This record gives sequence, structure tokens and C-alpha cells, in this order.
Amino acid sequence: MTEQFNPFTIAQQQIDQAAEKLGLDAATHELLRWPMQEIKATLPVRMDDGSTKIFHAFRIKYNSARGPAKGGIRWHPLETMDTVRALSAWMTWKTSVVDIPLGGGKGGVVCNPKELSTGEKERLARSYMRAFFKNLGVTKDVPAPDVYTTPQIMAWMMDEYETILGENHPGVITGKPIALGGSRGRTDATARGGIYVAREAASVFGIGLEGATMAVQGFGNAGQHAALLGEEELGLKLVAASDSRGGIYNPKGISAAALVDYKLKNGTLKGFPEADAITNQELLGLDVTVLFPAALENVIRGDNAGSLNCRMVCELANGPTTPDADRILDDKGIIVLPDFLANAGGVTVSYFEQVQNAYNLYWELQEVHWRLDKKMTQAFHGVHEMSQRQGTNLREAAYLVAIARVAEACKLRGWV
Ligand code: NAD
Repeated sequence: MTEQFNPFTIAQQQIDQAAEKLGLDAATHELLRWPMQEIKATLPVRMDDGSTKIFHAFRIKYNSARGPAKGGIRWHPLETMDTVRALSAWMTWKTSVVDIPLGGGKGGVVCNPKELSTGEKERLARSYMRAFFKNLGVTKDVPAPDVYTTPQIMAWMMDEYETILGENHPGVITGKPIALGGSRGRTDATARGGIYVAREAASVFGIGLEGATMAVQGFGNAGQHAALLGEEELGLKLVAASDSRGGIYNPKGISAAALVDYKLKNGTLKGFPEADAITNQELLGLDVTVLFPAALENVIRGDNAGSLNCRMVCELANGPTTPDADRILDDKGIIVLPDFLANAGGVTVSYFEQVQNAYNLYWELQEVHWRLDKKMTQAFHGVHEMSQRQGTNLREAAYLVAIARVAEACKLRGWV
């Protein structure tokens, strides 16, 4: 990984810019540039063939001034300490920008889940919890699903935690199955939050969405729900989608539900009827109203941002746009809804899940949607107002809002 594309270098550059604009003192600035706690563990896991494999795992608490840390656990072959650091920083700004009383954290395991059996995944999940349980809990740090981790994996982790402590602690982890204390509305919460933000942005910037087009890069959890809800809630027409194996395109429109069904049955988008094959790069350059990057980081870069032709980028993935690409998109007048605002719906409903677990009282779906809409709408307008006041783009404004709140909490605690 070059320094230019190291996500943690990018995260620190973003903090540096905000610190300068906010006039933060040197100690506060330095505190916010680094995680407060990093733990690395090696996890021995018995494989189905009787051998033992060692997996490298991380858990990082970036900042907990505003509340217990919160953030997902990713299982990915290219996971590194620096990706987890960057993601834990973004979680800190994310919980802050939507103003929920939590800090930021993140975890990861270097592994390829596609090569693991169900039994191996369960043993890996339990092993992760055994390694990190002392640092996790409702008053410390609460994990959740992320790339290639699922509600079932959260259930195994919760069970391991409760088995170790001999107590019931559903709030130790969120994104659980509903039968084990998960919240209604969690599955599509990330995409739904992004859809609400896109709706508000479109109304502020005078962009008509009814009958307009969208393209989705990354047809996993976030991407599939973005396509479904983009149709349902905003009247957008899906014209292209892609996953790690490539994409498909039909300018006349693709039924999101049919595509979700096809991906479920075939494990790929390839061969979807009445659509042409398209590469991930070609998808990014399509003339659409809304582009949803919903895969991995650094996909919109200085070398390809010039080819984008959309009106709005709704960043459901974490860190999909590099800083040099941001400048190019600004010059082209493309509105970028920054990741830690646009994809904060997931953590917001995770927070609702923690609240419901704490009260042992569960909300109807409509209540979750109503509360999520309120949070996302308020968050977008707070960021938009800051951007108007400071004359910045929405990403810079979101950093200013979020970092100012975390800095204030650190100051009030007497840390700096
Ligand atoms: P997922 O594993 O369900 O889906 C990821 C999808 O991206 C898969 O379909 C995969 O095939 C595809 N993909 C991988 N590499 C690709 C590439 N090079 N080009 C195109 N597609 C590619 O993961 P997810 O939960 O949907 O998360 C996607 C992104 O959204 C990540 O950046 C994640 O951090 C972010 N995010 C997710 C949530 C959530 O609640 N799920 C919350 C916040 C942020």
C-alpha cells in the first residue's frame, strides 16, 4: 500500500485540514490524529481438516470522549492495522456527525471468509471474542457487522461473551439477528440512511430524483438495499450495478428486486438477462444522477475522478474517494455526500439496538424508520449549514461539525 493510498494517512490529512480551520490547539489536534487504544491478537483456529491456522486480528478504540466506542468488525484478506485505524477514526466522526452518544472503534481479521466453512467461521468468531472480550462491553466498546461479517457471526460472538461472563449481555454487540435482540430495520439501515441524506441533498440543491438514474458499485448489503430503496423511496431507476466480479448495464433500467434475486441465486451479477457487461471503471463514468459507491475504499481517485459524469455521489462505502479526487469532483460541480454522513444510518440503528437492549423493550419498524429519518435529516442540514457558513464542500463541513464536537468533549473531560 503506497502512502498516498494508505487510508490512515488520508484520515490524518482530513483531521489536519479540519484542525486548522477550527483553530484547534496543538494537543487537541495531536490527540485526534491517533487512536487512543490499539490491540493486536493472533487467533489460533482449528480447521475442518484437523490443522490449526493462525489469523491476525485487530481491535482499535479511536476515541471515546463522547461515549463508548462503536464500530464494525471486518473480515478481509487485505486487512491491515492502518485500514482499521482509518476506519476507527471515521467511526468517531460518524457517531459525532449524527450526534449519537458514542465514540469510534473498529476491528478486523485478516482472512478470506469465502475459503472458510461455517464451522471454521464460528470458531474464528468465538476466538475473536475470547481474545478481545476484556476490552468490549456496553460501557467500553460495542462491535457490529461490517465487510464479510454477518448477523450470525455477531450471534456467535455475543454467545461467546455471555458464556465467558455467565450473564446476559445482548448489548455487547449490534447487528444481531432479531431473535437475539437485534433491532428491526438494521439490515437496510446503512442504505436507508444514505437514501434519506440523498433525498435532503437533492431538495437543497434542486436535483429532481423521480425517474432519474442511479448506478451502484458493490452489490452487497449496502449496495443492494440502496438499489431497492432508491427505487422505492426516491423513484430512481437503476441502470448499472457491479460486484467484485464485474458489472452489468442497461440504460432502460434494471429491476433492483430482480437483480437482488439473481445475485442470491447465482452469486454473481454476470449473465443477468437483458443487460450488457460493464467493468467497475466504466460504471463509475456513467452519466447517471446518483452514483452509489458501496464496495471498498479508494475507488474514485485522482486518475479516474475526471471521468465521472454523475450529479451526486452518495458514499455508502467507507473512504471510496481520495482527497485529490475530491478536488476534481468539486471542480466538476459533482455533489459528494461524504461517507461518514451518508453511511451513518447503520451505526444509528445499531445505537437504537443498544438502547432497545438496555431497556429490554423493542420498537416497531415504523418507529425505527421515523427516528432514523429524523437523525439523518438533522445531520445533513447541520452539515449543509456549516458548508454554507464556512464556504466548504460537504465533506469538509462534516469534518468540521464532527471534529468540533469530539474536541469539545475532550476539553470538557479535561484531557486537553
Ligand atoms: P458486503 O460484503 O455485503 O458487500 C460488498 C460488495 O462489494 C460485495 O458485493 C463485493 O462483491 C463488492 N466488491 C468488492 N470489491 C469490489 C470491487 N473492487 N468493485 C466492485 N465491487 C466490489 O459489504 P457491505 O456491508 O455492503 O459494505 C460495503 C461498504 O459499505 C464497505 O465500505 C463498508 O465499510 C461500508 N459500510 C457498510 C455498513 C453496513 O451496515 N453494511 C455500514 C457502514 C459502512
